[in-house]
Amino acid sequence: MEVIWKATSQNAVYEEARVGRVFNHRRPSRFPMAVVNAAKEADIVDAVKLAVEQKCRVAVRSGGHSWAAWSVRDNSILIDLGNYKQLEVDAENMIAKATPSMTGRELNSVLIKEHGLMFPGGHCPDVGLGGFLLQGGMGWNCRNWGWACERVVGLDVVTAEGELIHCNSTQNRDLYWAARGAGPGFPAVVTRFHLSLLPYPKKGFRSSGYIYPMSMYRKAFDWILSITPSFDNDTEIAVISHYPEGSDEMRFFILFVVMKNTPEEAEAALRPAQETRPDGAVEEWFCKEDSLDEQYDKQEHANPEKHRYCAENAYINNDADVPAVLEEAFTTLPHRKAFALWYAMNPCSRRRLPDMALSMQSDHYFALYTVWEDESDDVRCQAWVKNVMKRVERHSAGAYLGDSDFQTRKTKYWADDNAKRLMDIRRKWDPKGRICGYLDQGDQSGTTGLTNAHEWKL
Ligand SMILES: Cc1cc2nc3c(=O)[nH]c(=O)nc-3n(C[C@H](O)[C@H](O)[C@H](O)COP(=O)(O)OP(=O)(O)OC[C@H]3O[C@@H](n4cnc5c(N)ncnc54)[C@H](O)[C@@H]3O)c2cc1C
Repeated sequence: MEVIWKATSQNAVYEEARVGRVFNHRRPSRFPMAVVNAAKEADIVDAVKLAVEQKCRVAVRSGGHSWAAWSVRDNSILIDLGNYKQLEVDAENMIAKATPSMTGRELNSVLIKEHGLMFPGGHCPDVGLGGFLLQGGMGWNCRNWGWACERVVGLDVVTAEGELIHCNSTQNRDLYWAARGAGPGFPAVVTRFHLSLLPYPKKGFRSSGYIYPMSMYRKAFDWILSITPSFDNDTEIAVISHYPEGSDEMRFFILFVVMKNTPEEAEAALRPAQETRPDGAVEEWFCKEDSLDEQYDKQEHANPEKHRYCAENAYINNDADVPAVLEEAFTTLPHRKAFALWYAMNPCSRRRLPDMALSMQSDHYFALYTVWEDESDDVRCQAWVKNVMKRVERHSAGAYLGDSDFQTRKTKYWADDNAKRLMDIRRKWDPKGRICGYLDQGDQSGTTGLTNAHEWKL
């Protein structure tokens, strides 16, 4: 196993190991003692044992896409799983066993091409399964197909003491419960996910888009809110405010992505939107042939590499005046590359969730993805996000771990009972706080974990 020690390695080699695979180029000033480039399961066991021996913590990196670079921690051995990619597919039973650094695109390219199957991983193609699934995973068509972690049927993990065990609904059940929603506070290292798959709807993969001028913000938003609850159950619906490439004007873009078995079914699903849409779109398309691959390309384009990012999010209360609450966020973007998102979660948000750590949701998922290039914009862009969120959060039930930074804002991430149970499970499996856990301000959370409370209410 390759170990790159901070104290004895060349700086360039150490820096590449420390942050080379971190997506957000706003680099953290945190320095692991060593980085282990794991290439097989046994390396993960050995790396955890090395951390026990060294009396330091364990940090983990799968896809490197956590916005706040949660994998980069002081006083830790960072286990980077980037070279540990394995996939086994049991097509007959529609089960895949995948290692955590596999990305959505890597997994789906094999599943689609070789088996006609898919897994609803992250929208951005390069998000790693590890961080994504532990948080819950807002994957493709989450509003209907449910959270991606609901398709985790089991997982192999290395405990904080270095023991390799399996967790599922009958074995090590508390860890299995925690793995579906603990996010970066999961008290073990996942070496493999066992996933239940879906058929890939190649023939009926279609999309419709309606792009409105910002002057139609209220009208277009009211329309989409009114049709979402009863809209087709294989269609995901998102609203994005952004500057289209080459344009000086911000636009209000409504996107429907439908995944049906046939083109006819796709057309029937999208027809109610086409027939009721408000007039005045500057551009629109109806039931265009599409694919997961093309959607991935668009997501990749919207979230470019080598950029600086600040993400934030909130589940807006079901009874809120959503367009009013989000107006500032949607109409005052601080940079041409930044965008704001509303993502429909109804009817998933109205269903009783399985018994698992993930327990926070509402009909309206809202997120800010602030993207910029120059360090000189850091203060301005981050201040904009903070100010907008100060007003928005008062209308929210809580937030999603995946687009959060616990260093900058405290809120609720789980139902109260789930949060308490989760922190108890963390202490049971990792009483010494070996696994780094939640990165709060000053990295102090340790075995206590997060408080799970709205800061503005305290
Ligand atoms: C461009 C972009 C698009 C995104 N789109 C979506 C989306 O569509 N839906 C969504 O839900 N989220 C999305 N996210 C959020 C993303 O899911 C989270 O940032 C997630 O943490 C990324 O997982 P990762 O493995 O790539 O990250 P990493 O930074 O590698 O991991 C994050 C943390 O998770 C924990 N972790 C990771 N792997 C393991 C493991 N094997 N064992 C134990 N702990 C582990 C560790 O604490 C680690 O530090 C997006 C993020 C980006 C940057």
